[in-house]
Amino acid sequence: AILQRFSTAAAAEEPISPPVQVNYTQLLIDGKFVDSASGKTFPTLDPRTGEVIAHVSEGDSEDIDRAVLAARKAFDEGPWPKMTAYERSRILFRFADLIEKHNDEIAALETWDNGKPYEQAANVEVPMLARLMRYYAGWADKIHGLIVPADGPHHVQVLHEPIGVAGQIIPWNFPLLMFSWKVGPALACGNTVVLKTAEQTPLSALYVSKLLYEAGLPEGVLNVVSGFGPTAGAALASHMDVDKIAFTGSTDTGKIILELAARSNLKSVTLELGGKSPFIVMDDADVDHAVELAHFALFFNQGQCCCAGSRTFVHERIYDEFVEKSKARALKRVVGDPFKKGVEQGPQIDEEQFKKILRYIRYGVDGGASLVTGGDRLGDKGYYIQPTIFSDVQDGMKIAQEEIFGPVQSILKFNDLKEVIKRANASQYGLAAGVFTNNLNTANTLARALRVGTVWVNCFDVFDAAIPFGGYKQSGIGREKGIDSLKNYLQIKAVVTRLKNAAWL
Ligand code: NAD
Repeated sequence: AILQRFSTAAAAEEPISPPVQVNYTQLLIDGKFVDSASGKTFPTLDPRTGEVIAHVSEGDSEDIDRAVLAARKAFDEGPWPKMTAYERSRILFRFADLIEKHNDEIAALETWDNGKPYEQAANVEVPMLARLMRYYAGWADKIHGLIVPADGPHHVQVLHEPIGVAGQIIPWNFPLLMFSWKVGPALACGNTVVLKTAEQTPLSALYVSKLLYEAGLPEGVLNVVSGFGPTAGAALASHMDVDKIAFTGSTDTGKIILELAARSNLKSVTLELGGKSPFIVMDDADVDHAVELAHFALFFNQGQCCCAGSRTFVHERIYDEFVEKSKARALKRVVGDPFKKGVEQGPQIDEEQFKKILRYIRYGVDGGASLVTGGDRLGDKGYYIQPTIFSDVQDGMKIAQEEIFGPVQSILKFNDLKEVIKRANASQYGLAAGVFTNNLNTANTLARALRVGTVWVNCFDVFDAAIPFGGYKQSGIGREKGIDSLKNYLQIKAVVTRLKNAAWL
């Protein structure tokens, strides 16, 4: 009976045929598609059914070696770091044009491999990929160093140089956006790249990387290796000839990456990790609006966002009304085949995440939280989960402490600003926060007091290219997007020249 309360039709029907085919399944090394050295492949699955979409070449340490060698050669001997920044920027601009031209195929591939709603991929994420590549294309010819004053007869230049070969490891929740956040700044600064995609979603990066070569990228500048974390990913993080590693994913894996980098060649590291972001609703809020925003903050992308507003703190004066209205909103959520028009929520990425989320729902029930709605899978095929809400959630419960990464909202009650600041900050994470209030003073107080990398006031998940993103505490090291992201991919060199025969000596 519970199933009927959700829009189940699309999930129950036969899946819609994706309006796209898979063209590229091999590794992309030195500008060419090649099989893995072992000849091994792995299946990438359709989260709507669990069926195989394609068999993809499985890279491991030998392939990472080949890719790093190609990237090294392209950096040391190729034209990329030496060409004018304007030429580099033109290639990236042409790439953005090609992304726009192929918007719908790219979006369809992303939806097929990931399960996210096609409308979201086609109208938001692929356009955002083009936007981000243009943002970084625009930076390429504006990156430069400084002349600084020095005591004594010295002329001091501070040069900003590319670091060299950048290794990048990305997750499956936003494969294309993660591609742009990583590859964009690395290339704009003149680095070469080896990208290890997530094993759940290898397809879209291969497709767009081919477009980047069509746009004129010199051979070997971007290499894409599909494969698994402990093999390909670990080989990249510990490679002696990789100068920098950037990673997005879980905090546990981030710690492994940091260790591998330290134990090998002390390559520089940036990490964008997990979160347990508070979304704080004050009692002056327009409840309907707050409910809608809190719903979006948690359920967007099937709840698979590192910054998901996964601890909804609501003032006690509006708590009961908020919970009732949140329940009504969740029941209206359209869950189904992500290729179908109007669908807000598709399946979770894979069986592992699907089972993990159901396990957390059990922890919620067993831990004493009240299950307001949802709580089970949806349909009997694929990885669909009912939009789920818990109320009466206490800070110490597992569901209030750990990342669920699924469509499970936890609503907590508070009664005072000081108290909610303390509770919101009592987390190992510090990625983001949402604040909902009409009181400017309250908004400013919260914005300063919350120990997180992003505070969204009366909005959530606003991800413009120029806004830096990253975490405090165990949510990461460094920032992506915006001007700060360039620092991750630049070396700084001081050139000090003794001035001889200067007129004033
Ligand atoms: P993960 O962190 O293990 O995987 C992310 C990437 O790291 C993938 O490309 C993976 O192949 C790679 N990887 C895994 N182990 C590695 C290793 N030992 N060395 C090098 N690379 C390695 O995440 P997951 O297993 O896909 O998901 C687990 C949980 O992580 C999720 O439930 C969620 O809580 C969190 N997660 C967070 C994000 C985020 O954006 N912050 C993204 C995905 C998952």
